[in-house]
Amino acid sequence: MTTLRTETPATAPDTAVDRDVVVVGGGTGGLSAAVFLARFGFETIVLARGASAIEQCAHLENYLGFPGGISPGRFLALGRDQATAEGATVVDERVETAQRIGDTPARFRVETAADRTVRTTSVLAASAYDGDWLDSFKDLDAADGEPFLVTDAGRTDIDGLYACGWLTDETAHQASINAGHGARAALSLIRDDLRERYWPAVADRYVDWVVDENRYGGDGWNEHVDEWFEREMVPEDEDIDGELLECARQDLAVEFLDRCVDEEERKRRDREGQRRLLAQLDDDIIRAYAESNIDD
Ligand SMILES: Cc1cc2nc3c(=O)[nH]c(=O)nc-3n(C[C@H](O)[C@H](O)[C@H](O)COP(=O)(O)OP(=O)(O)OC[C@H]3O[C@@H](n4cnc5c(N)ncnc54)[C@H](O)[C@@H]3O)c2cc1C
Repeated sequence: MTTLRTETPATAPDTAVDRDVVVVGGGTGGLSAAVFLARFGFETIVLARGASAIEQCAHLENYLGFPGGISPGRFLALGRDQATAEGATVVDERVETAQRIGDTPARFRVETAADRTVRTTSVLAASAYDGDWLDSFKDLDAADGEPFLVTDAGRTDIDGLYACGWLTDETAHQASINAGHGARAALSLIRDDLRERYWPAVADRYVDWVVDENRYGGDGWNEHVDEWFEREMVPEDEDIDGELLECARQDLAVEFLDRCVDEEERKRRDREGQRRLLAQLDDDIIRAYAESNIDD
């Protein structure tokens, strides 16, 4: 009997991934995490519907950057716009279950109340009051009797499962703290990915920055990067494959320069930032403000 080579054996693991990361919850922590994840380049989907803390707030008055405060609805609209502009997809669907499906790139299957199924490498839980969809992970808890949403910088004991915000033990019930915790969990996820691809020193130095064009580059830049790489990145007590070393060195050199923006680009981004803020303001407020300035 011959076997067609194109046939997939029934036992073959399903390795297809729909998204790199599923963020469950689109409030303060989840949207903040999604911004970091999408900017890093992860295909990120935010699934958000259900009990929300932020939507119970009457007016958010202690979040830095909003003198006079901001309504939760406008705050969330700005957050969604930012996450979307960075490349994440935000969908209004409640997650019902998430399950481990293997150790391949498709480590989890997430299912929503709208019958959507997403296979993903990582899950970031940011659903505040609702942890019911995480029930299947209780068996996988590796810690000694500890609840699984005890986190360490957003990491849980389960590989690939991260958590942030009011769902975890690492926070306090304030919006800006949970936004920071979302960013922290996303950074842990990103660094774990880099650690798997390279080694800890390369992973731990990752930060999401945009800098002035004069900060990196220029005369002697390549020599400077080489010297820094040898000094800071290459571990003394570990043999790293030469090809991997070279790959990391080149990736880091490119990353430094990619972070630079010139004066013209800074101005363009500033104007684009203002335009996006305006898009979330009421027309009558914009009109009244513009008219009052004309009168001056
Ligand atoms: C009444 C009240 C007033 C508050 N006022 C203030 C204030 O003035 N200032 C301040 O700093 N903080 C305030 N807070 C606290 C602040 O809102 C929270 O600390 C913060 O929003 C928590 O962030 P989070 O991301 O964990 O949760 P949230 O921001 O609430 O986000 C949770 C998200 O998860 C989604 N979700 C839930 N279940 C599911 C599911 N199964 N599937 C998919 N999505 C799901 C929700 O729809 C929501 O999008 C207030 C809280 C309350 C309750």
